[in-house]
Amino acid sequence: MKQVLFTDLDGTLLDLYDYSYDAALPVLKTLKRRKVPVVFCTAKTSAENEYYRKELGIEDPFIVDNGGAIFIPENYFSFSFECKKRGNYCVVELGASYKELRKALKEIKEETGFKITGFGDMTAEEVAADANLNVEKAKLAKEKEYNESFIFDEPKEKEVILFDKIKDKGFAVTHGGRYYNIHGKNADKGKAVKILTELFKREYGEVKTIGVGDSMNDIPMLKAVEQPALVKNKKGAWLDISLPNLYKAQNEGPEGWVEVVRRFIL
Ligand SMILES: [Mg+2]
Repeated sequence: MKQVLFTDLDGTLLDLYDYSYDAALPVLKTLKRRKVPVVFCTAKTSAENEYYRKELGIEDPFIVDNGGAIFIPENYFSFSFECKKRGNYCVVELGASYKELRKALKEIKEETGFKITGFGDMTAEEVAADANLNVEKAKLAKEKEYNESFIFDEPKEKEVILFDKIKDKGFAVTHGGRYYNIHGKNADKGKAVKILTELFKREYGEVKTIGVGDSMNDIPMLKAVEQPALVKNKKGAWLDISLPNLYKAQNEGPEGWVEVVRRFIL
């Protein structure tokens, strides 16, 4: 049976702090040889996804901006389906536009006085320093289309007010390992995974889906796959959720990722 791997990037396939992935390289090679699709499912932008696809030699579809859109390489599937043509990709858009998201955040800032700093408020140099990226990668991280990442510099208990405000304005919020994200309410990793799974099924008949993540924004993805798995975070703990069939890797980040792939795919 065709297996499809959906994977988060930051804190999962990539180390949360230095974005390294060396531990995963041999296994990625094997997946490629065995033609197991490796679908990035991440808060990262399409520009950042392109970077890592090239680095890791991955040519499969990818889900950007926390489920804001699915990018499918042209002719990847043998049939045609509804999508927007963009460069060499067929794009299925689920999310709200960056402009709308920026506007909502600005309004919330004005209404509450909360210290909110979005990527759009920061220079590439500032994003680089904060996210521990080089300036080139920070530029890619700023090319957001269906999601805005932001720093919420307020006590944890004010999170509830922030979340309510975002919901009132018709948008959704997720918290990744490092940043909060505001996005369209139809944009979620789970929906994107389901749409893509249907396309894989049309192509291959039955497929088995495996999903790996590390934090809150991965929950919809983990719920949408047959075999969900968590890697440990930097505190050496797992995200506090219970899902049927959830596998918890003993290791953190890329090492945990390797463990999951070895156990369920190789
Ligand atoms: Mg993550």
